[in-house]
Amino acid sequence: MTAQLTLRIVTPERVVLDEKVDEVSAWAIDGEFSILPNHIPLVTALAFDVLRYKAGGQESIAAVLGGILEVNENTVTVLSDAAELATEIDETRARQAKERAEAEKTQRADKLDVYVSELAFSRAIARLKAADLSRRKGSRRHSESGL
Ligand code: ATP
Repeated sequence: MTAQLTLRIVTPERVVLDEKVDEVSAWAIDGEFSILPNHIPLVTALAFDVLRYKAGGQESIAAVLGGILEVNENTVTVLSDAAELATEIDETRARQAKERAEAEKTQRADKLDVYVSELAFSRAIARLKAADLSRRKGSRRHSESGL
């Protein structure tokens, strides 16, 4: 039988995902990387970005807002302060969070406050990217199936 990966995405609030998958791609702070079964053990810091995973030829998307990714014995564990499957993302909320963060950034003088606004902005951008990628995939699948 072909080896698979167990992908677990965990936040302080919940287990976002616990599934068998064939491939995981995520963004580390220095670029995107992919994990296939039988990968060597690895620990890396994640950027605020999308995580893509493939199972049975279907690709799915999640937003992962930083954290740590560990690979060990065909288990990929992601621990992050916040993460959502693309299908769970409220795009209106993310758009509002982006606009709020942009406005706050220009109004704030304190460096730490500016940094906090930049983090909020990056979270919103990652969520919008995940929702957008997921929608494009959905519409491509529909056009492929003639719908
Ligand atoms: P907001 O200002 O809209 O709350 P935020 O970036 O400050 O955004 P977080 O602190 O990262 O939010 O997350 C708080 C909780 O809300 C987490 O459970 C996270 O998964 C969820 N969450 C945040 N934004 C969204 C969204 N656009 N869609 C779905 N869940 C979200």
